[in-house]
Parts: sequence; structure tokens; C-alpha cells
Amino acid sequence: MRVHLALAAVGLTAVLLTTTQLAGETSPAAAPTTPPVTSAVTSAEVPSSPAPPPPRVYASSSDLPDGPEFPVAGAGTFHVVPGSGPVVGSGPLRTYAVEVENGITVDEQAFAAFVDATLTDPRGWTARGARSVQRVSGAASVRVRLTSQQTARTACGFEIPVDVSCRDGNFVFLSAARWIRGAVAFLPDLHTYRTYMVNHEVGHAFGQGHQPCGVAGGPAPVMMQQTFGVSNDEIVRITGGVPQGAFIPQDGKVCAPNGWPYP
Ligand SMILES: [Zn+2]
Repeated sequence: MRVHLALAAVGLTAVLLTTTQLAGETSPAAAPTTPPVTSAVTSAEVPSSPAPPPPRVYASSSDLPDGPEFPVAGAGTFHVVPGSGPVVGSGPLRTYAVEVENGITVDEQAFAAFVDATLTDPRGWTARGARSVQRVSGAASVRVRLTSQQTARTACGFEIPVDVSCRDGNFVFLSAARWIRGAVAFLPDLHTYRTYMVNHEVGHAFGQGHQPCGVAGGPAPVMMQQTFGVSNDEIVRITGGVPQGAFIPQDGKVCAPNGWPYP
């Protein structure tokens, strides 16, 4: 298993080095006319302060990006962020509550406002009259939970050693590690990744299953596992035979990151 993982990582690195998904990283072949910054500096141009470190090259598109600290562990219990809203959309009503794990420090109102804006957006699951949604504080169809990294690993599993979010029954667990850091395929666009997190996991609660990239270069289906990446081949490699509820073809298709059900 370790050998296979290592080989997969080497292969994936080679693939990734040829793509533009790595934050700030440019392959030598892609920029032949741009002199390397570090080697072009002459003695007269040496800055007084040391050059910043080069941007990190991620070995896998499923790596947790570098970034700020995030809540690693919490109490494993949750409290509601109080709030309610109007019915938005038409069609059968699905209610949702917003919760945060006890023992973690986050801007709860900002989190709730983001969930509200995402679920009520016309590009979201209310499009085409499929359903309406309403924020409530009490009993709800779906409970959207901002969850520490360790509690998310417990709730979502860590068989594939990647920090992910998930849905279990009527509970959606959004990993704070990803909420704060995002995912490689989306860098540096944290806002779109958060939109994806909410819509993807709530999509499961609304009965949606996983999908592969269907049109190369097109927007990734929101139900594609974009935390792993936006390449079908990468997702097959990363999941390594662990069932994901959908057949993902190794067809070389790579999509553009997308957070909306109906972009
Ligand atoms: Zn999923």
C-alpha cells in the first residue's frame, strides 16, 4: 500500500507540474522568455531583505493548502447559531439550521451569513423551482455544522488521508481545516471553495450523488469531488479504489473549479 501510494504521489507530481493549478508556480516550459528571478539578480540589485520563500509546490491536488491556523479539535458537540430567514425559491420546502462546534473559535455570524447567501443564491439548489429553502433555529431538514479538523475526520472518516467535509444523514460537517485553507484546485479563491463546500455537502442532503468532470475545460459539476481535484484521473488516483458512490472514468478530463449547482 505504501509503495503504491508513493508511486501514485510521484506520478501525480509529474502531472501537476505540467498544469496551472499550482498556486503561483510556473513551469519552466511555460515561461521560456521570463528569466528566473533568483538567478537574474546581480550584486548591484541584491535587495536588503531576503527574498521570500518560493511558493509551495503541492505534491497532490488533495493536499491541505498552506495558510492561517484553524480549529484543530473541539468538544464534538454543537450549538445553533440563532437566526431565521424567509422562504426563498419555490417548490418543496427544505429547512436548514446553522451550527458551530462547541469549543472552537470562529466568526459564527460570518459563517452563518455565508451559508445563508450560498443556499439562497439563484445559482444554487433553489434554481428551476426544484425546491425552496428557509433558515430556522429549531428542527430542520439539514443541519450545517462548522466542525474542527479532528471532529470532521471522526465524522467523515480518514481512510483516504485527506481532510474533507461530508454529509451524514441530515447533518453536514464542514471541516474547519478546509473552511480556512481551501483546496489546491481553487487557490487562491477561498470564497468559491467555501461556496463549493456548502453546496456540495448540502447537495448530498438534498439527494445528490457524486459526478465526474463531464466537459473538459467546463465548470466542474458541484457534485464532483473538487477537494480532491478537478481532474477525473487525479480523483481516481487519490481515492484508490475506495468507493465514492459514482463511477469516475480515467478519461483525462479536467474541469474548471466551480461552486454552484447552476453556474
Ligand atoms: Zn461528496
